[in-house]
Amino acid sequence: MDLFEYQGKQYFARYDIPVSRGGPADTVEEAIKEANQAGYPVVVKAQVQVGGRGKAGGIKLADNEAEVREHAGNILGMDIKGHVVKRLWIEQASDIDEEYYASFTLDRAAKKHLLMLSAEGGVEIEAVAESNPDAIVKLHIDPVDGLDEATARQACVDAKLPERALDGAADILVKLYRCFTEGDCDLAEINPLILKPTGEVHALDAKVTLDENAEFRHPEWDAFRGLTEMDDREKMAAEKGLQYIGLDGTVGIIANGAGLAMSTLDVVNQVGGSAANFLDIGGGANADVMAGALEVINFDDNVQSILINIFGGITRGEEVAKGIVEAMGRVDLRAPIVIRLDGTNAEEGRQILLDAGIPADKLRSEPTMLDAARAAVAIAK
Ligand code: GDP
Ligand code: MN
Repeated sequence: MDLFEYQGKQYFARYDIPVSRGGPADTVEEAIKEANQAGYPVVVKAQVQVGGRGKAGGIKLADNEAEVREHAGNILGMDIKGHVVKRLWIEQASDIDEEYYASFTLDRAAKKHLLMLSAEGGVEIEAVAESNPDAIVKLHIDPVDGLDEATARQACVDAKLPERALDGAADILVKLYRCFTEGDCDLAEINPLILKPTGEVHALDAKVTLDENAEFRHPEWDAFRGLTEMDDREKMAAEKGLQYIGLDGTVGIIANGAGLAMSTLDVVNQVGGSAANFLDIGGGANADVMAGALEVINFDDNVQSILINIFGGITRGEEVAKGIVEAMGRVDLRAPIVIRLDGTNAEEGRQILLDAGIPADKLRSEPTMLDAARAAVAIAK
């Protein structure tokens, strides 16, 4: 789960990482209220999950109420690389002496955590990696050992941070590492990490990705949910507990298991079609889950045909079939279904579909994944 900047900063604050005082705003009036509370000058910041907001005009300094009104009005509704700005974050502006970069990620190949640190922050780290790779210090951290203050400080020295930034930066690195590990992040990035004229070091931006596998031990993540950048289809699927990702094509796809769902996408592409979504109903899915999945697919205007690809292991064919029949009774499906049903109790499942007397132009069965994909793509054309 990717967090917005302001959520990332709220998460940082839980781990004592210094961030600027501020508040979220969805309207110009709210922005003014937050600005008055934070104290001028303030920064008006677009909350979209894409980098380079500054360059795109989504981040503006404001010295007074009139300027907040102007900038908030301009930035709300702005399109930044395909992301429409619906929310702002208003924070007290900081004076900046220098901008650095710091992040923690998991290096899967090395089976270690990876700190990346650079004195060249504020710009995209990919650009630094390209033009001046030596300016990025990379330090692998054994998760068993963790990161202590002395090691963090040495990394700051290696990255050529100035003497007066060392203590503050090392302190933040240790806290950011705690946030990354105890906070179960896949990514915790600060760009820029700033040095103020006063000598304080401070997080001016936040990019946090949470590892959803750890959700069960983080009740505090509930507050982030629902506010993340999901389209309506994805929200509906999330409410039903489905693994769903919206795509741009016309063939709605339901499969059991992520691997099978991906193969199905590939086969649809291979026969000249395009998928409207990725949807894994998981192992052991029952009739209710199948009905929910069809409802989500049906919600998508672009869907011209629905391809259901089930290879039953724990998932049982008769449950899948019951779900389809139930969903067809419950909702008026906009597109016909092509199903490939194989594996556990497939025969019983097919019989249930036959007995339901669904006309062939609404539902047909194909013996293989390839045949089913061809039929679904032909309908979608
Ligand atoms: P990004 O462009 O999406 O990465 O957004 P950032 O939050 O990183 O802001 C981009 C740039 O705007 C920073 O690198 C700063 O140079 C500038 N900026 C952001 N906040 C402040 C602030 O409080 N004071 C000043 N002077 N500049 C800021
Ligand atoms: Mn940034």
